[in-house]
Amino acid sequence: MSIQQTLAMIKPDATARNITGKIIARIEEEGFRIVAMRKLKLSKEMAEAFYAVHKERPFYGDLTAFMSSGPIVALCLEREDAIAKWREVMGATNPEKAAEGTIRKLFALDMEKNSVHGSDAPETAAVEKAFFFNGIDFL
Ligand code: ATP
Ligand code: MG
Repeated sequence: MSIQQTLAMIKPDATARNITGKIIARIEEEGFRIVAMRKLKLSKEMAEAFYAVHKERPFYGDLTAFMSSGPIVALCLEREDAIAKWREVMGATNPEKAAEGTIRKLFALDMEKNSVHGSDAPETAAVEKAFFFNGIDFL
């Protein structure tokens, strides 16, 4: 597996509890290079666009309200096998099922307020990076 990039978010439940720095420290400890980073608040419309793939799901309304309820930090991360590795470090969507030591096991409040996001494939990583960043952001 070669060097790859992924899009991560630190979600509003985490920024609200002042654990942004702890999560960023973990990102760096796991060998990711932070290529680009922004703190911003999504509008409801932006959250709906970001999670459009889930628009038929019953949790879509609540999820997009939560994701636009406070600031998020978006990061473009780079390392070997970044997409799978970041999902491994995040842990399962449901924190009750997340492995010991994963970010969601350590910090998530519930299935929705689960502290972090990560792209699930190279195609979605490319779309999600372009959602937050353009050429001037990348080092
Ligand atoms: P993410 O895409 O945020 O990295 P994921 O890939 O683990 O998480 P998805 O299935 O893509 O999970 O769901 C996107 C997000 O929607 C979840 O991270 C969570 O915040 C929320 N979510 C998913 N399933 C549920 C559910 N059953 N109830 C409430 N919220 C949910
Ligand atoms: Mg997902």
